[in-house]
Amino acid sequence: MSSDPNCIFCKIVAGQIPSRKVHEDEELLVFHDINPWAPVHVLIVPRVHVASLAATGPEHEALLGRMLTLAPKLMQQLGVTNGFRVVVNTGRDGGQEVDHLHVHVMGGPRPWLKG
Ligand code: AMP
Ligand code: ZN
Repeated sequence: MSSDPNCIFCKIVAGQIPSRKVHEDEELLVFHDINPWAPVHVLIVPRVHVASLAATGPEHEALLGRMLTLAPKLMQQLGVTNGFRVVVNTGRDGGQEVDHLHVHVMGGPRPWLKG
């Protein structure tokens, strides 16, 4: 399934729900988290619906690599110069609330709300 009609991030990818975008390309969309834990908090989201990191396989290696290597570029672009945190909540006990694979990237001066 490349898109799930009930998935909030699929709706954002489709433009049905607005988001504050910071980057988009053929495979990925990046937007500001609506409930940020840090001064800069963005979500890197694949356009394709993948439920979580636990649902990935060898076919997703390139996609996962692109998601991670995009993170430092985004932080540089957003003026984060003193380090950042990358989080992939996975499954219920992992704290995942939106069942569409995403990478949280957080940075900016501390203290942060969480994390
Ligand atoms: P997780 O707990 O890892 O599944 O994180 C989901 C994240 O998505 C949370 O940090 C939410 O604040 C964020 N979120 C949920 N809905 C939206 C939205 N419409 N736009 C931006 N971020 C959202
Ligand atoms: Zn989705």
